Formats: sequence, structure tokens, C-alpha cells
Amino acid sequence: MSSEQPIAPRTNPAWEQRWHPLREEWVLFTAHRGGRPWIGELKTPDPSAVPAYDPSCALCPGNARISGANPAYTGAYWFTNDLPCFGPDAPPPGDHDGLYRRRPATGTAEVVCYHPDHGKTMADLTADEARAVVNLWVERSAVLGARPEVRHVLIFENKGSAVGTSNPHPHCQIYAGGLIYGHTEREVESGRRHFARTGEFLGQAVLARELAGPRVVAANHAFVACVPWFARYAYEVLVLPRRQVSSLVDLEADERQGLADVLREVAILYDNLWRMPMPYVMAIHQAPTDGEDHATFPFHVEFHPPLRTPDTLKYLAGPEIGGGSMTNESDPDEKAAELRAAAGPGGAMTRRTR
Ligand SMILES: [Zn+2]
Repeated sequence: MSSEQPIAPRTNPAWEQRWHPLREEWVLFTAHRGGRPWIGELKTPDPSAVPAYDPSCALCPGNARISGANPAYTGAYWFTNDLPCFGPDAPPPGDHDGLYRRRPATGTAEVVCYHPDHGKTMADLTADEARAVVNLWVERSAVLGARPEVRHVLIFENKGSAVGTSNPHPHCQIYAGGLIYGHTEREVESGRRHFARTGEFLGQAVLARELAGPRVVAANHAFVACVPWFARYAYEVLVLPRRQVSSLVDLEADERQGLADVLREVAILYDNLWRMPMPYVMAIHQAPTDGEDHATFPFHVEFHPPLRTPDTLKYLAGPEIGGGSMTNESDPDEKAAELRAAAGPGGAMTRRTR
């Protein structure tokens, strides 16, 4: 085991930088500035109810899309994206000079609808329905990852207009091509380095510290959700497996249910927090499928909500876009407590009405 000891919790991380062990970068914490007056754009939640079926929705059962129509699907459903960012017919690369390099964008992109109901988000799914979504992710990861041109399967959900999603029909996307996405590439290296240095898996090392701290927001036999000590966003949630796995395809049947349950619970906490649909980017970080040994890869799911309050977006600006490092204006201990309190009486994880 490592000689590195968990760090004692400390509230109000003012004037502090924290090391992000997965991305191997520093995050600047400025909780002492979090209360400053906001004079920028305000976001107003849309209280209008979402119908179960929308005749103009390209994802609803039976409706027309660019290429054909959806079947009358009844559960989780996937199809090839009509406008994929990776394609099977990408032209071979032309000449390059060694500095200005290029390569073909081969692969595919798919869309997964969580449910035929246009208004049923992850938080609204039953345990069985959520497991069906996870099972579909596992199945598509196995099929796509086995393709020779696919080096990485990235599954993500953009939820809400605040992160650019125009269609509210609950769905996620699967990108599978010759590109290993940047964060995953860094986590390949951080996982290997940590194992070489300490003999322990990085994901398990982070899990041990979070289980010892006050930031766990949901947990079951297979997965733990927390606002990590090194969070980059105010309400960021990291979902970690209780045992070392590197990919969705490594999960046993009961762990798939555990993942489905914890994702559903995180979605419920988010929506309960301000009694409005919480926008977020969810990303599943799993090992590349490039044929290398990824036994040390720290499989996890990340939620990145862009809001700091119901009316305040966390804008990426000078320090983030210009400087390339994140500033978190909040205290992860406090944000975790806020999310836990949103579970309802006795931590029942029941959905509050919007
Ligand atoms: Zn729809």
C-alpha cells in the first residue's frame, strides 16, 4: 500500500491550489470570492412541462429523421448519428510536413435514447429502465471497441440548453473513432504513473480518500458518487466503482445495476437541488480500445454542471480559456452537503416536483 495518507478535510479552501490527480493539473480554489455580487447574465429556468411525445422531435418513436424514421421503440434505443463526426469513409490522409500533421477521422457516432418518453430524464427512469440504458452502453462499447479503427469509445450526455442541447428528449451520444479523447489520454498516463509509483490503482486511491471524507453524496454496493476534493466545478460529481475496473465492459451484472442506480440518484439530487432540471455534461471515462494494456485505467463517470446558482453560469473565461487552468469559487465539502440535503427526508432519494 501507499505511504501517502488521506488529507484531513478542510473547509473553505481559500487561497489554495489542489492537485487533480486524474488530470494531473492544479485547480485554483477561491471560495473566499464566491459571494461576490453577480451583475452578468441571469438564467431563468423554463417551468413548462415537457410532453411525453413531441411530433417535431427527431428522437421520439416513429418520427422522421434525416435518414429514415425511428421505429416504435419501447425501451433504450440506439441509432447511428445522421451527421456523425467520425465516418467509415473518411479519406486517407494527404501529405504533411511533420509539424502540420493530419489523419483520417474514421469511426462512427451513435445516439442512445434513454426511453421513448420525450420527457423522461435519467432521474425519472425506473431502476430497470436505467439498467437497460447501462446495458446498452456496455453492449455498444463492446461492439464499437472491437472495431479495428476505433481506439476509444466516449459516451457523454449534454443535458439542457445551458450546455447547448436543443432537444430535451433524454439521450446521450457515443463517439467511437481513431481519436483517444484528451482527458482519457491523460488519465491513461496518470493511472499508470500512480500505479508505478505506489503499487495501487489511482481510482481506488481517490475512492479511499473520498470515502474517508465528507463529500460522498450517493453510494451503493458497487459505486460511490462524490463531489471530489479537487472538483473543478461547484457541483461536479465523480462516480467511482468500488473495485478497480477500466471499462464498462468489465462490469458484472450487479455492478451495472449499481451504476444505473447511482447515476439515477445523482440526477435526482441535481433536479431536487433547485427544483429545476439541472443542466450538465456527463462523461463516461473508460479505457481506450487501442490494444494496449489498460489494467490501471481509472474507470469513472463525471458530471459537470455549468451552474453555480440557479441563475449563475460558471463562465469559462480568462483563467480557464485564456490560461488553461480551472478556478473553483466554492468549497466541495459544502457543495456535497447541499446535494446530500436534496435527497429528501431520510435520504429517500425521491424526486421533488419541479
Ligand atoms: Zn422526443
